[in-house]
Amino acid sequence: MIAPGPGEPTVVAAPRAAPPREPAAMGYRRTAVLMDTLVTIEVVDGAAPDAAAAVERAFGWFCEVEARCNRFDPLSELTQLSARIDVPTPVSPLLYAVLDFALGVARASDGAFDPTLGYDLARRGFDRDYRTGRRGTAAGAPVGRADYRDVRLDPARQAVTLRRPLLLDLGAVAKGLAIDLAARELLPCRDFAIDAGGDLYLGGRNAAGEPWRVGVRHPRRADAALAVLRVGDLAVCTSGDYERRSPGPGGGHHLLDPRTGRPAAGAASVTVVAPTAMLADALATAAFVLGPERGLRLLERQGVAGLIVTPELDYLATPGFAEYQQWPS
Ligand code: ADP
Ligand code: MG
Repeated sequence: MIAPGPGEPTVVAAPRAAPPREPAAMGYRRTAVLMDTLVTIEVVDGAAPDAAAAVERAFGWFCEVEARCNRFDPLSELTQLSARIDVPTPVSPLLYAVLDFALGVARASDGAFDPTLGYDLARRGFDRDYRTGRRGTAAGAPVGRADYRDVRLDPARQAVTLRRPLLLDLGAVAKGLAIDLAARELLPCRDFAIDAGGDLYLGGRNAAGEPWRVGVRHPRRADAALAVLRVGDLAVCTSGDYERRSPGPGGGHHLLDPRTGRPAAGAASVTVVAPTAMLADALATAAFVLGPERGLRLLERQGVAGLIVTPELDYLATPGFAEYQQWPS
């Protein structure tokens, strides 16, 4: 089991009885564009003391994670680290924890998940900062292929050494981390929802006092759901081949098979339900790249529930997935 890194929020998914409720309170909801997606945070009881301040702090985490982990920003901590080859570089606790976690997923997935794919992504046209349109780090591939084993962590010094030229990319975990840090701020509000471009954390219950309902998008029909889940105090994250298409050479989607540097073809989408969004986010990407059989085995080994949709639109789910599934039952 991959544990969230040190300092990450631990969200306990304890079942709870529905408490008696006052008539539905007015919710408080805010939306912002962050991390190249639309982020919406909703607190069910908008009149709760400090709800607005908690939401403000929650958005602050998205800004913080983006500032540290954005591969497209020459000033981000991640980009600056990527420029230092063979030099032990002390990094912030946040960056250390997310790299530690990402390397754990890379090992658990036998390298299908790899946080060193920045050059491959840039070469395929994923090379522009969405905020400025400017090109990020050069797409030039260094000589000799690097992979996640070329990233060494020194826990005592909280330092990172890159043993070959490589470009770190945390696109498959950073959003999950930001969601978890935001959720920690919102725990006092108890009932809340965070939606970052379809990656979700649902705290407590909805305005009707019931578990939150989450639609899983049909990978080939944007307006159709292929399942409806009921969850509370859990994250639900999806990786799909429909999410982002490259404007660059060859086109294709944004989930690469590290063995080939090309878009992985084994799945159309993967949805994971897990206690933390960072875990759900990363494992959805990893299972996507592994494809149905190996992907499903990874999800089961990691003790999370998931649904894998194949390119032929067959569905494979872990045994635990049915527990959350309201429709189709
Ligand atoms: P989204 O960001 O659309 O929600 P994901 O969470 O699945 O989708 O993350 C996709 C991102 O993960 C890509 O944009 C890229 O930054 C990164 N990525 C792509 N392929 C891999 C891989 N094999 N291992 C780790 N990260 C990857
Ligand atoms: Mg992901």
